Amino acid sequence: MERRYKRFPILRKELHIDENKERECKEFEKRIFFLMAAVYCRDNHAAKENKVTAADLDFPEDIHNWLLRNKRRANYKLCPECYELIQNAFRHTEKCPHSYYKTFCHECPTPCYRKEEQAKMLPIMHHSGKRLIKEHPIYALNFARNLIKNNSLIRKHTKSNGGIA
Ligand SMILES: [Zn+2]
Repeated sequence: MERRYKRFPILRKELHIDENKERECKEFEKRIFFLMAAVYCRDNHAAKENKVTAADLDFPEDIHNWLLRNKRRANYKLCPECYELIQNAFRHTEKCPHSYYKTFCHECPTPCYRKEEQAKMLPIMHHSGKRLIKEHPIYALNFARNLIKNNSLIRKHTKSNGGIA
């Protein structure tokens, strides 16, 4: 994996972080990660045994309810490894101090994933990133919109501070 330029600085101390908005960011992050992992598991782990329908798996209540609101989401099947990965990602998302303005995890100045963990996440992003545009366009669109918004927020902020980064 090539080294990526760390794009976002730590803005938490300098920004007013709206807690409700931050919660929404975290929820969205979890949802989009679930979709990416589900698509990845469907396409790459079709032959794996012990796959369980997402609706029957143990997820945080908000995610569980979100899954049940849509048949396609609820019916995604996950292998134990991908389920574990999703649970793990959710834990990181909950603890992430950058949710309000972040772009990509791999661009984070204070990564919370160990190298081995990150190595498992990246193939999912690469495989499912483009597929989401077709399969879950609203989520892909919102993801892109957040990215643009957050990038401009970071740019604006680093400019006014004489350019951290
Ligand atoms: Zn899988």
